[in-house]
Amino acid sequence: MISLTDIQKFLRGNIAMDVPLAKYTWMKVGGPADFYIEPADKKDLIAIIEYFRANHYLWMMLGRGSNVLVSDEGFRGAVINIENSLSGIRRENSLVVVEAGVRITKFVDFCIQNELAGVEMLAGIPGTIGGAVAMNAGAHGGEIADHLLEVEVIHNGSVQRIQKEKDSFTYRHSRFADDVVLEASFALNHGEKETLSAIRRKFILQRNETQPLEYPNLGSMFKNPANTYAAKLIEQAGLKGKRVGDAQVSEKHGNFIVNLGNAKAADIVKLIDLIKRTVYQNSGLMLELEVKMVGFSSFAKEAA
Ligand SMILES: Cc1cc2nc3c(=O)[nH]c(=O)nc-3n(C[C@H](O)[C@H](O)[C@H](O)COP(=O)(O)OP(=O)(O)OC[C@H]3O[C@@H](n4cnc5c(N)ncnc54)[C@H](O)[C@@H]3O)c2cc1C
Repeated sequence: MISLTDIQKFLRGNIAMDVPLAKYTWMKVGGPADFYIEPADKKDLIAIIEYFRANHYLWMMLGRGSNVLVSDEGFRGAVINIENSLSGIRRENSLVVVEAGVRITKFVDFCIQNELAGVEMLAGIPGTIGGAVAMNAGAHGGEIADHLLEVEVIHNGSVQRIQKEKDSFTYRHSRFADDVVLEASFALNHGEKETLSAIRRKFILQRNETQPLEYPNLGSMFKNPANTYAAKLIEQAGLKGKRVGDAQVSEKHGNFIVNLGNAKAADIVKLIDLIKRTVYQNSGLMLELEVKMVGFSSFAKEAA
């Protein structure tokens, strides 16, 4: 059995109970987590994970919540956020070493300011490095994995540095998804600041024009099937604008579901089911979710 008193004996960071996750997710839906923890630093993070592992208690990492759908019932376990504790970014000779709590936007900006090219296509993705490595985030034909050399993770309870290998990353998936990402090292090429800034500007403008950023959303809900786009299949199935409660298939981008105000996770799940069934009937293709479901089943990082 775990207890708040026991945790408070060693944890130096913040801990709170029954914390609504809606305010920590981009979609602005989701019930409470039993515990919400912000470790003070890496040592604190390792200690709390050791404690949960020893007590067989359910826990998960949460970055900016820009790719997770949390159930209305919430999460019966502990959510750990490291945005304030693992927030360093540094240059080591030709490498950029970035801690997992750093926002992608800050990482991209650091690289551009240092005239380093190769990650500018990630501009506008609203996550952390930890979430991006776990998801193998990408855009415009590039992925975070492209220039990544090595990651430091908690794997099976121990801190390890692991080199990227050929099969470490696939489309929106990484072998580190079941670990805790602590930091990532990138080897980047030289680039002109002006050119990189212009590319970033172009990509951000493109996002503003094509994505419904005026509403809470989770980016692309579904992975693109081979040789086609989920957005195109959803549009061809006549689903743009379709609503369940306040959850709506965006009028602007078929692969986005938006929260018009008071959507419940249950509305979004119904809409997801409707999209999958209708697209399958219309095209014969079964869409696969890109977003991670939290509190609906046994989603957690117990194995790390
Ligand atoms: C408007 C919008 C646009 C988007 N555009 C894109 C896009 O172009 N391309 C793209 O790939 N994605 C996109 N996304 C999705 C999302 O931003 C990315 O997947 C992002 O990398 C998730 O980061 P996060 O910190 O928010 O992770 P979260 O959503 O908090 O978590 C996602 C997963 O990562 C895990 N995780 C988080 N931190 C860690 C850690 N330190 N160690 C291990 N696991 C961890 C979580 O447990 C969860 O399984 C978009 C989302 C939005 C809302």
